[in-house]
Amino acid sequence: SAHLRAVNKFYGDFQALKDITLDIPPGKVTCLIGPSGSGKSTLLRCINFLEEYDSGEVRIDDRLIGYETPGGRRMSGRRLREMRRDIGMVFQQFNLWPHMTALQNVAEGLERVRGLKHAEATERAREALAKVGLADKEANHPSRLSGGQQQRVAIARAIAMQPRIMLFDEPTSALDPELVGEVLAVMKQLAAEGMTMVVVTHEMGFAAHVADRVVFMERGELVAAGAPREIFQNPTDQRLASFLQGYR
Ligand code: ATP
Ligand code: MG
Repeated sequence: SAHLRAVNKFYGDFQALKDITLDIPPGKVTCLIGPSGSGKSTLLRCINFLEEYDSGEVRIDDRLIGYETPGGRRMSGRRLREMRRDIGMVFQQFNLWPHMTALQNVAEGLERVRGLKHAEATERAREALAKVGLADKEANHPSRLSGGQQQRVAIARAIAMQPRIMLFDEPTSALDPELVGEVLAVMKQLAAEGMTMVVVTHEMGFAAHVADRVVFMERGELVAAGAPREIFQNPTDQRLASFLQGYR
């Protein structure tokens, strides 16, 4: 699980997150929706401290991330790296190593970050690739994979690390429409296996059908949160309603 308490984030004078309080329950899928520039990526990146928040608290399970104590000194780089091992992240751009095969891309972190022996890392990487349906592509370099396959390798790389939580930032928005489905299917399967997930998405169908909870943000504020049917079927908030109009 993850917990945000009164999180504020500024870029200079601009406030990108305004007093965000949010619980990310374990084993559930939380989808973050909202217009461009509303702070979705910023919020996600605060969860693994890729962005420093200025005040408030972010916890993964019960451990504060980024600072030694609330409002206190920044964590050491070493402590931060240790904590980040438990947090998987998948971006819009797949960020695979172009000079490595699919298998090497997945195994590399297991050796370097988790300290697994080569044989063990390779075995676990194969399992992860099989899970995303790419057992037969392990020898391909990214340039020999479709966009959807590359993104599935990126997901395999993250889940191979056995994270406590997975963060996805618009994982399908760089894909051709016909490749979106295969990536969403893999995410759906992860969700069914009980992975704790936070997904920033513009795929309202995915949010409606897979999310346990949907969170709507606008201008750095958490405006509405609820079960998909509360958010999509009968939105009471005016800002949410007009945002959803844009998808009809
Ligand atoms: P999108 O749907 O377009 O990805 P988003 O909801 O993810 O949007 P963020 O990327 O979190 O939005 O940005 C929130 C706000 O913070 C935006 O107004 C953006 O311009 C601003 N912002 C983001 N990163 C920076 C930065 N490094 N420096 C200054 N401002 C930033
Ligand atoms: Mg974004």
